[in-house]
Formats: sequence, C-alpha cells, structure tokens
Amino acid sequence: MKIFRLEVPQWEQFDGLIHGFLGRFDGRSRPANGPFRLSCDNADDPQAVKRNWCELKQALGLPRITIITAKQLHGDTILKISHANDKQAGVGDGLMTNVPDLCVGVVAADCVPLLFVEPARKIAAAVHAGWRGTAAGIAPRAVTLMRETYGVDPAALHVAMGPSIGPCCYEVGPEVEAQIGANWSKELTHAWKPDGAKGRLDLRALNEAQLLGAGVPRPQIQKIGPCTACNVDTYFSYRTEGRNGHQLSFIGWRS
Ligand SMILES: [Zn+2]
Repeated sequence: MKIFRLEVPQWEQFDGLIHGFLGRFDGRSRPANGPFRLSCDNADDPQAVKRNWCELKQALGLPRITIITAKQLHGDTILKISHANDKQAGVGDGLMTNVPDLCVGVVAADCVPLLFVEPARKIAAAVHAGWRGTAAGIAPRAVTLMRETYGVDPAALHVAMGPSIGPCCYEVGPEVEAQIGANWSKELTHAWKPDGAKGRLDLRALNEAQLLGAGVPRPQIQKIGPCTACNVDTYFSYRTEGRNGHQLSFIGWRS
C-alpha cells in the first residue's frame, strides 16, 4: 500500500512529534464504489473501515499508535481527548490532547485540515475547517481552548494547514461572504476576491488571519501542500468528485 504523506519541514526539530497530512490511498486504482474510507458516516461497512485503519497504520509504520477521530459536522466543537478508549470520540470538528502515544486526527476533502502543536508541553490538536467552521471561528477557538485547558500560550503554538481547496477552484456565492463577513470582515479582506456575481475564497488565508488575531506568531504558521481540487490524482476533492473519500491529517507525541 502506497501512502502519500506530507510533513511540516519546520517541525523536524520537534523530537517525538508524529504527524502527517495524508493523500488518497492507492491513488485512483480502487474501484469507484470502494474507495479507501476511514469513517462509517456514510453507511460504510464498519468491518471494511476497521481493516482500512489497520492497513493505514501498518503502512505508516505506526501500528501501536491510536489515532482518534470524531464525527465531523462542520461545527466549532473541539473535544478534549484524555484517554484512548474510543476511536471515534464523539461529535466535533476538532480534537486536542496531552496524552502521549495517541494521535488526534481529522478528515477532509477540500476543507482545511489544521494541526496545532505546543512543543514544550507536548500538546497537540487537529481541526477541520470548511467555510462553515471558519465562519464559526474554529481555529481561534482551538487556540482559546488550548490556553484554558492546558495553559498553552498562543505565542508558543505552531500551526500548519494542509492541502485544501485553493482560491483557484473555490468559487462561492455572496451568501457565504456575508456569513463569514458578519464576524470576520477584517480577516476576509485578503481572503476574498469578487468574481462576477460570486467570489473566490482563500480558506487558508482566512484561517491564517484568524490565527494571527488569536496571537499565533506569523512565522509559526505554515501552509503545506497544493489545492486539492487541482490535484485529484493525489487528493480527494469534494468539489471535483462529490462524496468519494477523505484524506486524514493527524498529530500526536510519542512518550
Ligand atoms: Zn485549484
């Protein structure tokens, strides 16, 4: 099994950190009705999903690391993970943890996967931000919750955004601009370009602006990988393909 995995070059210095932004598995060779799925949210066979997880962790060389995900609903709920009991932690679009040998993960197919790390205290978080989650401010919410829960200084946080749909392909209507602009008009300035009756949204630029506002230093915010919709050989893209599959992004620390 071939796995396409991006890591953040700036994070090589963090000893014991495990992370990755994954691409699609086995390229497009799987049959159209059987893509490599990691969630049971769309009536997938639970046994097949379980096998996929096993196969994935073997291929990553992480057979004994638990990767915990949640049922994502494009909201702003962030779950605190304190033990490895349940592989699907509940309903939420973000997960944070300070437990070693446990990774938190989100899946996405165009939406922005964000990984957060505080290297001194070995805290990690993963967040899924589509336009709805971004409008709800889920990334700055993660910064706030990591401060309240673990005492993390926002200035000590490093954040990376993975492959997601770029402004080249992300045309949205004025209703989206209005909903985001209701709370984030300043942040939207450099992330929105009018294009006829619609506009082009740069979700990663918008999340970066929100993170800067939350106190994360600019040099500690990275954007990794290309536009998913331009690169469907490597990444699932909901815009391009519809409901076909998701790529996983995950992060955690070894003990
Ligand atoms: Zn594109």
